[in-house]
Formats: sequence, C-alpha cells, structure tokens
Amino acid sequence: MYENEKKEIVEYGKKLITDRLTTGTSGNISIYDPEKKLMLISPSGIAYFDTKPEDIVVMDLDGNVVEGDKKPSSEHGLHAAMYKAKPNARAAVHTHSMYCTVLAVLHEPIRAAHYVVADAGDVLVPCAEYQTYGTMELAKAATNAMGASDAVLLANHGMIAVGKSLKSAYGLAAGMEYCAEVYYRALCTNKTPHILPDDEMRRVIEKFKGYGQTKTK
Ligand SMILES: [Zn+2]
Repeated sequence: MYENEKKEIVEYGKKLITDRLTTGTSGNISIYDPEKKLMLISPSGIAYFDTKPEDIVVMDLDGNVVEGDKKPSSEHGLHAAMYKAKPNARAAVHTHSMYCTVLAVLHEPIRAAHYVVADAGDVLVPCAEYQTYGTMELAKAATNAMGASDAVLLANHGMIAVGKSLKSAYGLAAGMEYCAEVYYRALCTNKTPHILPDDEMRRVIEKFKGYGQTKTK
C-alpha cells in the first residue's frame, strides 16, 4: 500500500536533515489519504538516513496502526489532530528547526517582519501553549492556537506546518524557518523591527492565492 507516498516521506525526511531543518531523529512527516481516512507517518526513533519505505507506518486518525511493524512517531496524535482540524491538509511536517524553536521558547509568534509570513495564511504564525510532547494535550493546544494559519509554533518545542501536498507542507516549514530567522535577527539589533500591519498582510495573503504557477516562492 502507498509505495510512492512512503518513498516521498523517506526522501523528505533526508531533506529535513540536509536543509538543516531538524537534527537527529527529532521532527516527523506524514501524508493523509482523505478517501480511506488513513495517515502515513515516519517511524519513531529511526534516523532519517536509515529509514526505509517499509518503516513508514499506516494509521487511522484514532491512533490504530493499520500497516507496518515499526512504532509510529510519538507525535502521531499531533498529526492526526491537524487532519481533523484542517480538512484541506494532505501532509504535515513537524520540525525542531532552530529559529522557530527560539521564538517558541520565548512564547513569541512569528510576527510579520517579512511579508512571506502570509504564506501560512494569517497575519502571524501563532505560538501554542506548552504541553508535554506526544500528548493529546499538545495536539489540542496546537489546533486551538492555529486558527486560520497552516503553521503553528509549539512552545518550548518546535513547529508544525500543513499543506495540500508534502511539497507544500515542507515548503511552508522551510519558509517559516526563514521568517523566524529574519525576525529573530532583527530583534537582536538595537532597533525595533517594523511589523507589517494586518491590512497589508491580508492584501499579501490574497495576492499569494493567485501568485505564479504555485503559491510558494
Ligand atoms: Zn517534536
């Protein structure tokens, strides 16, 4: 089942490491099939460069394993909550990327210091309240905080982004890491970064909807 999707998860897992969006075995990736209501997710505790397509676990959104002999990622509940909260989401990427995590430690959202924040679909990327990793409380905090945004910071932990494909969820995770880095670096100067007003961000969100061949940069 799902041979191509499993290969895609393996490839994007390696990209998480080579693009320096996560380290070690932290973070995880999933793809959702809305027809069968099944989710494919990376396994727990296997290094990305050691993960094989057959290690990818197929689960339903209630946490039952349908196929695979490996333990699923400890954040499978967080991924399942995303698909329940975001009906158009077909993939999710969770990372502990450096600058998103720095802001998450400060319990600070990614504010619109750069217009590309609009790619997540709202005027800022919110930060969800802290909850222990791998719990339903964390999943609930994340979906409660995200509102219209397709990305959310997880306090003292990292971030998660969803998209209409794995390529788009991954692109959003990478784009928000860029925005978090820009905002963080601007905060480190002795000047105050200018944050774009909400009405300008709403214009950019609209513009992105019709931008180029794809909405990503
Ligand atoms: Zn995590």
